[in-house]
Amino acid sequence: MVPDAIARTAIVSRLDDIIAAISGADRALDKLPRADIAEAARLTANAYYIGGRSWRRQLAESDIPAATLMAVHEESTRAIEPMVRELERLLVAANHTTIRRDGELEFVITCAVCGGEAVTFSRARAHTDSPIQLVVSSLSPVTVFRPIAGPRMKDLVSLLERGNAGAVIAHLKETQPGGCDAHCPTCDRVYCRTHYAVEAQWSGSWHEATHATCPVGHDHEVD
Ligand SMILES: [Zn+2]
Ligand SMILES: [Zn+2]
Repeated sequence: MVPDAIARTAIVSRLDDIIAAISGADRALDKLPRADIAEAARLTANAYYIGGRSWRRQLAESDIPAATLMAVHEESTRAIEPMVRELERLLVAANHTTIRRDGELEFVITCAVCGGEAVTFSRARAHTDSPIQLVVSSLSPVTVFRPIAGPRMKDLVSLLERGNAGAVIAHLKETQPGGCDAHCPTCDRVYCRTHYAVEAQWSGSWHEATHATCPVGHDHEVD
């Protein structure tokens, strides 16, 4: 095959994957006796992942005319829209975001979709003789865990103990350079890794940027 034909085949197969994810999300929402929100959100996030930045770059580099690309983009956006609207409605009703205490040393902010771990807070020591730190998880592929120590850690622990997820997120945003990347600022909900489309862009071994798209399609930069 000539390179252009290979590019076209790759694009068609990706388009098939997007369609499969969107129709899977549709089936999950129609499931009886009740919609499978976790599965639907996993699949919409997956559709956003497949149709994300690397796919758009691939399209831009292909020989396919810009008007055709625009039509493909508009068509897949239109196809996913009804699922996203329904998902949004169900998420408002479900809202699983709470703080769960895991044993004596750990706290978890739970995912708005599935109630699984979205952000974890563990008390740990860097070395046996160093002071205890609070280690916060992140969606970033570069800094997966971020330590917090001293007075800020104390403040954070007391907010966690009070169980107010909103206050914890606000505190992380004010005090931490990485903020709280599992929080989608647009829909004001927290999601786990399964329910985000996390796309890292690398240039060789250099990390350029990472973007997370929530299951209802809001994109924010991580890191
Ligand atoms: Zn989840
Ligand atoms: Zn969102």
